[in-house]
Amino acid sequence: MVSIIGGGPVGAYTGYLLARAGFNVDLFEEHHTIGKPVQCTGIVTKHLSKIMKLDDVLVNKLEKVNVFAPSGKCAEIKVKEFVIDREEFDKNTVEMAVSEGVRVNLRHKFKGFNDKSVMFHNGKKAEKELLIGADGPLSGVGKSAGMVNKKFYFGMQARVNMKNESDAYEVYFGRDYPKFFGWVVPESDKICRVGVACGANTKQYFDRFIKKRVGKSKILSKQGGLIPVYDLKMKICDKGKNVYLVGDAAGMVKASTGGGLVPGFRGAEVLADCVSNGKDYGSESMKKVGRNLKIHLWLRNVLNRFSDKDYELLIRLVGKKKVRDFVNDGDREFPLKFLLKLAFKEPRFLYFMKNL
Ligand SMILES: Cc1cc2nc3c(=O)[nH]c(=O)nc-3n(C[C@H](O)[C@H](O)[C@H](O)COP(=O)(O)OP(=O)(O)OC[C@H]3O[C@@H](n4cnc5c(N)ncnc54)[C@H](O)[C@@H]3O)c2cc1C
Repeated sequence: MVSIIGGGPVGAYTGYLLARAGFNVDLFEEHHTIGKPVQCTGIVTKHLSKIMKLDDVLVNKLEKVNVFAPSGKCAEIKVKEFVIDREEFDKNTVEMAVSEGVRVNLRHKFKGFNDKSVMFHNGKKAEKELLIGADGPLSGVGKSAGMVNKKFYFGMQARVNMKNESDAYEVYFGRDYPKFFGWVVPESDKICRVGVACGANTKQYFDRFIKKRVGKSKILSKQGGLIPVYDLKMKICDKGKNVYLVGDAAGMVKASTGGGLVPGFRGAEVLADCVSNGKDYGSESMKKVGRNLKIHLWLRNVLNRFSDKDYELLIRLVGKKKVRDFVNDGDREFPLKFLLKLAFKEPRFLYFMKNL
């Protein structure tokens, strides 16, 4: 008997994999519906399309990203990325889980657990054998088991009725977006997702960015949420208690970009494999997910020490033809290979190592 707390995409995908492997799985979600509230921009790389069919949830295809330095100078990089409808994506993932026999229990807010039971705020209990926390950045399961992530970025985003190139998204760096960045991601040529994530005071930076980039265009809705910063030292399983964390609950997010869907799904695959085949989740997830997240964290730490002048230089270098041609084929999921090759192409990138 497996109890998964959290009916987000990672919990549902974990449930799907375990049920397919023959486990008896219950998925518990605190809300009365799946997929809401949305707290995501919905950009994913081609790697997610290798794991899941995205056709039904595809909102837009992105061919390029315009990266802005604080002065407004911009470098264009070719990409192949997708914008998805997060609500539909979450629903589809839960449907996949249900099709494999997972029982979905809505309005079940996790309260705590002991050796025998998992308890919920509605007074109900479930038998406790294997407990999985896929309950997002502030994981209650993690807290109850003494496994907590303490560092977060906070992101705010608005859906805006504004004209834009439909196949290009924008990323803004510099002191107006401290320790992260701002973005404009088109759903179409008429609607964009405009947001900022920062280490602190996000609302202030978000309001300023909205004023600057959106002006008087109509804001359709707003949303915000925490982005956990991957922590190498965080415990993500307690074998004695038979409790495991995955997805945002385990901090499985790329610290360089805030993308958590691909690493979360990888984490789900590793966890399902470990549970099914008696492997050690701590070491397997470090090998298969953690190592790559470590590089993203390193990159984030380097970027966090960039001055506006560093960003100007970076955008200038990326704008050079030989670099641009190379960067155009780059892969955000695996940054180490990419960065090493980049340093060979343009040794001036090594200048940024001073930020280490
Ligand atoms: C502003 C913003 C923009 C982002 N943009 C992107 C992006 O473009 N691309 C990308 O890949 N990632 C993005 N992310 C990150 C991405 O949204 C997460 O990594 C992803 O949602 C993780 O999925 P999850 O299933 O682990 O957690 P969640 O999606 O957080 O799901 C957790 C689920 O657990 C439920 N839950 C929580 N507590 C309890 C409880 N006590 N009892 C029962 N249920 C509970 C919640 O209701 C929720 O349904 C963004 C995040 C933010 C905040």
